[in-house]
Amino acid sequence: MAVERERIRALNSAPLRKDSAQYVIYWAQMNRRVESNHGLLHAIEIADRLGLPVLYYEGLTCSYPHANLRLHTFILEGVPDTECRLKKLGIGYVFSLRRRTADRNDTLYRLAKHAAAVVTDDYPTFIARTHNTRVPAKLDIPYIAVDSSCIVPMSVMAKREYAAYTIRPKIHRELKTYLKAAGPIRPKHKWPASHQPEMQAMHTTVERGAIPQLAASCEIDHSIKPSPTFTGGRDAAEKRLQYFLKHNLHRYAKGRNEPSEQATSRMSPYLHFGHISPLEIALAVEEHAAQHNLNAAEYLEELIVRRELAFNYARFVDNPQSLGNLPEWCQKVMEKHSKDKRDPEYSPEQLERAETHDELWNATQKEMLHRGIIHGYYRMYWGKKILEWSPTFQGAVDTMVEIHEKYALDGRDPNTFTNILWCFGLHDRPWFERPVFGALRYMSLDGMKRKTNTRAYIDEIRYLETTGKDPAANYRPQA
Ligand SMILES: Cc1cc2nc3c(=O)[nH]c(=O)nc-3n(C[C@H](O)[C@H](O)[C@H](O)COP(=O)(O)OP(=O)(O)OC[C@H]3O[C@@H](n4cnc5c(N)ncnc54)[C@H](O)[C@@H]3O)c2cc1C
Repeated sequence: MAVERERIRALNSAPLRKDSAQYVIYWAQMNRRVESNHGLLHAIEIADRLGLPVLYYEGLTCSYPHANLRLHTFILEGVPDTECRLKKLGIGYVFSLRRRTADRNDTLYRLAKHAAAVVTDDYPTFIARTHNTRVPAKLDIPYIAVDSSCIVPMSVMAKREYAAYTIRPKIHRELKTYLKAAGPIRPKHKWPASHQPEMQAMHTTVERGAIPQLAASCEIDHSIKPSPTFTGGRDAAEKRLQYFLKHNLHRYAKGRNEPSEQATSRMSPYLHFGHISPLEIALAVEEHAAQHNLNAAEYLEELIVRRELAFNYARFVDNPQSLGNLPEWCQKVMEKHSKDKRDPEYSPEQLERAETHDELWNATQKEMLHRGIIHGYYRMYWGKKILEWSPTFQGAVDTMVEIHEKYALDGRDPNTFTNILWCFGLHDRPWFERPVFGALRYMSLDGMKRKTNTRAYIDEIRYLETTGKDPAANYRPQA
């Protein structure tokens, strides 16, 4: 089955290198996986046509803001899975680890000299957005971005959508076309052993047992420790999905807003780094729900409608974290309430260190510090309180983005920016007028106490903080 053309965007007009090309490159920037990867499949399509093998290239640099042990470990943990799977398929692999800023940073360009074309991920935030803007003009071969991050390709939505209710019917209409498994991975031309020696100089071998030492050797922030909850990589993603299907899907609708129930999927880090595709998750959820007579609508609403609304937003704005993207009614709220007294008021540093008067809020921030995510329901509370206690609206958004970029395993995602701006009214509607918030939706500690078991959650996070172990042990897929 050919990759749907709505997923494919040519980002330059350079011709294919035909005579001297040795391979076609698939550059995994965000979708660090082999299976269900339309970018890799499109690279295979081009390579098959040209009679060439495919080279899967993946890099990890130390130079992006807040590069740290947590993020590096999660990405490195994915590498052995990828290498092993590619080898079986006859696809070449270069994983380039740039340990120091003084090391060269040109692997893609060196590889591209012998390539017919580069295929990569179409992704609207973080480093892929920057690369996809800057790199195509520097290459003399085609540079093609493929959307394998969304089930309904982003290009199918012709404009920025106002809210979930405007995009939902459009997505549901398109699902019959796009909610189907990606094609099989069968490159006609296998990676020849003769190419390997040339690649060796650029490749970093990652032994599973040596990841801590490898990460320790990188010029990154070593103070942010790996998450005790999440192991990176395809194998871990598959196990977590199986765990979710077996133990949580049937209680998701009822339990997802009760953090102590631990009923959500915790797939967001795997989705962010592309270790698994939303398409695979949606198909597995549908199949499991059909077999067990379950209603998976709530889960699919989050995974597809909410997530793809976030991608839609990020794709259609220049700077996804800018408050300037908010609708007019939110701009008016911010204008009117910018000088309202914040009481209490906390600095970004106090917030980062979880030093507020509010024990529940401190626990949410500590969940971020130690686990690398915050439960979805309390994450809304976390954001709303940062808005309430920061001296300015701009300061609040900056603090939320900074904390995500530093600690979150699912940060820098379209979901990150969209949901942070949701705290300021994006994709929401006006509520009742009150200080600081104006008509923005408000969330209170009393509400959290009424609706959720805050004590159980605070105790869980205290255990996590003091022992470094995740008390929700079942969450951790066994290696
Ligand atoms: C202030 C704030 C910041 C957030 N930052 C992030 C972030 O950095 N990265 C991130 O992935 N999500 C973010 N979210 C959205 C949501 O909290 C997480 O996606 C969810 O908690 C991830 O946990 P889960 O995988 O167990 O979710 P589940 O409830 O199991 O949902 C499955 C998947 O659906 C998607 N999803 C769930 N809720 C939302 C939502 N509100 N919007 C869009 N997609 C959703 C996610 O991909 C999630 O993995 C944020 C929310 C808020 C309020």
